[in-house]
Amino acid sequence: MNQLLIFDLDDTLFETKSIGKKAVKPIFDQFDPLLIAKFGKEMTAKIVPELWKYPFDFVSQKYGFDTHQNAEFARLINVHNYELNIQTFEDCNVIEDLSQEKILVTTGFSKLQHAKIHFLGIKEQFSEIYIDDILSPTRIFKKGIFQNILLKRKIDPTRVYIIGDNPTSELKAGFELGLNTIQVAKFGQERSIYAKHCISNFNELLTILE
Ligand SMILES: [Mg+2]
Repeated sequence: MNQLLIFDLDDTLFETKSIGKKAVKPIFDQFDPLLIAKFGKEMTAKIVPELWKYPFDFVSQKYGFDTHQNAEFARLINVHNYELNIQTFEDCNVIEDLSQEKILVTTGFSKLQHAKIHFLGIKEQFSEIYIDDILSPTRIFKKGIFQNILLKRKIDPTRVYIIGDNPTSELKAGFELGLNTIQVAKFGQERSIYAKHCISNFNELLTILE
């Protein structure tokens, strides 16, 4: 029976932190003065580490970045030339060998997400790739993207598997749409209430998909 596997990218297929600060330092060097102008040095010193740790839209909302700051950050991200030295998690070869159709749905800034995909060398593994662009005015979020995929394929939702690490993003969306949700907890994260399954190694996928 046909199964459709929908994967997240960051901290699911590779460790986001492994990008390293050096690769994106010029972006922060230019963004810092904008933050300092609005929030002062002390507050900026608090905000910047959070930008490394959390999705941009989360931090932006938390501190109330204005439209100019949002637009400028997006511009810097989208003009930067990325040279990323990143690798997928070691057990990703299991995914590569799966015969099921695979789709990638990832949230972030378009150019950066495409650079990650390029430097990981994983593009060919997926029949389709969707970027949920966090500053797009017409953003439909992962849930909307999943709905469109379901509509287009008229596939039985019980044959669809959402595989990712984020409880409030793909796992929640998949849960609400009645899809199978597989939480990837590579770093010992707590099991999410939205996760039907929770795995730490992709070998465990084989049993789930049987
Ligand atoms: Mg993720």
